[in-house]
Amino acid sequence: MSTQASSSSTAPQPNSGGIITQPPPPSTLRESRIATHSHIKGLGLADDGTAMDFSQGFVGQKMAREALGLHLSLLKLGRHSGRPLLLVGPPGTGKTALALALSQELGSKVPFCAMVGSEVYSGEVKKTEVLGSCFRRAIGLRIKETKEVYEGEVTELTPSEAENPLSGYGKTISHVIVGLKTVKGTKQLRLDPSVYESIQKERVVVGDVIYIEANTGAVKRVGRSDAYASEYDLEAEEYVPLPKGDVHKRKELVQDVTLHDLDMANAKPQGGQDIMSVMGQLVKGGRTEVTDKLRKEINKVVDRYIEQGVAELVPGVLFIDEVHMLDMECFTYLNRALESPMSPYVVLASNRGICTIRGTEYDGPTGSSSEGIRSPHGLPIDLLDRCMIVKTSLYSRDEIRKVVEMRCKIENININQLALNKLADQGENSSLRFVLQLLTPASILSKNKGKLEVEIDDIEELDDLFLDAKRSTGVLRGLEDLDKKY
Ligand code: ATP
Repeated sequence: MSTQASSSSTAPQPNSGGIITQPPPPSTLRESRIATHSHIKGLGLADDGTAMDFSQGFVGQKMAREALGLHLSLLKLGRHSGRPLLLVGPPGTGKTALALALSQELGSKVPFCAMVGSEVYSGEVKKTEVLGSCFRRAIGLRIKETKEVYEGEVTELTPSEAENPLSGYGKTISHVIVGLKTVKGTKQLRLDPSVYESIQKERVVVGDVIYIEANTGAVKRVGRSDAYASEYDLEAEEYVPLPKGDVHKRKELVQDVTLHDLDMANAKPQGGQDIMSVMGQLVKGGRTEVTDKLRKEINKVVDRYIEQGVAELVPGVLFIDEVHMLDMECFTYLNRALESPMSPYVVLASNRGICTIRGTEYDGPTGSSSEGIRSPHGLPIDLLDRCMIVKTSLYSRDEIRKVVEMRCKIENININQLALNKLADQGENSSLRFVLQLLTPASILSKNKGKLEVEIDDIEELDDLFLDAKRSTGVLRGLEDLDKKY
């Protein structure tokens, strides 16, 4: 599942379990975070598990890709049992790209949620709450519903009937509807395919009364047949009940959602008359936010669905970059969450060596202090012990050039070979991430000069305008030396 599930309508729907299973519209925030990896389509492995030179958008990093391939086999065998993967390596060496590729290998409908360790310190939301919601974004639920699909016997339409969906009155009887209110009254109706599509979208079932706009063919549900006459105060002769037809088809409808989607759809919106607010009020209890209690309730319903075979859990991938930014409280939560049967596959990443585990530093009341516990990648030893650790390495000039070339194609940036070579040189001296960041400014610069492609002088100009981390540190050192001198 990409990060979000697909559905035919964005309106949440309550079901027999009492929870709404249709997700709210997807948020684009996290999706934009993975946009820079749009060229990555998988790990690019051959059938024997070896990494190909350049495949599925991946260049180099062969050892790491092969290690992830093996890890993938473990996941598919159900043998991951709470063992997270830890990717360690310098910035911009493809750790996020590897985690995304892993989720793509698991299937296109598998959720992927990427977060950065420092995100938990938002100040407004509890740290464990931020982590918890990311966990739930990475757990998918595939809900299978067998629905009765009623189909009118639509026989061949004449061209004039096809043009006007209401022109076939009375010829064929729809099994869907017991009464149709048209602008002219209530009629039995032959369904034009386009009207039929609208009817399906409106989830019309037997007994529903719909109103069809004569000109546009748009369909609106107006009530149930039993309440119809009094509600709409129709004259008896205007109400023509249609015979209820047989169920023509039973279709298995599959809907992919994440647990986070279910949380959001079931948290009561803050009043309002929009569809989300109204549907939210259908859930028992007066909830105003996603609470632990709500999540537990949802989990119970989910468990029941799974037991009944109505739904199946789809563990996705939760990627936590800069994991060294988490503190002891978060690590405790993480350890517990990894044990849960409803856990996604967790991939951690860090570009730090030995560093202090956050939350173990101590400032005593009497002025005593401790620098805290130091550990590899800032992770507590018990968590580190559980991890399968994979390293990523710096790229060669050619590899950098290939990735830059790929990104130019994807971002529709025309660049000539000399400029590409210059970027590859720069990337070798700084980082892949740095040169990838220069692509859009380079393209703007060349367009401003009225050029059709990025040339070497554009890259050189940017070189004067923007510093990479190494040069910026050099500049500051120079300033410090000056301070000392005067
Ligand atoms: P950080 O440590 O700063 O979080 P990272 O190791 O996660 O960095 P990415 O964000 O994955 O690095 O990589 C930076 C960019 O380079 C992304 O656009 C990514 O898709 C691309 N990239 C990195 N490695 C490769 C590769 N081996 N093949 C193709 N593209 C790559």
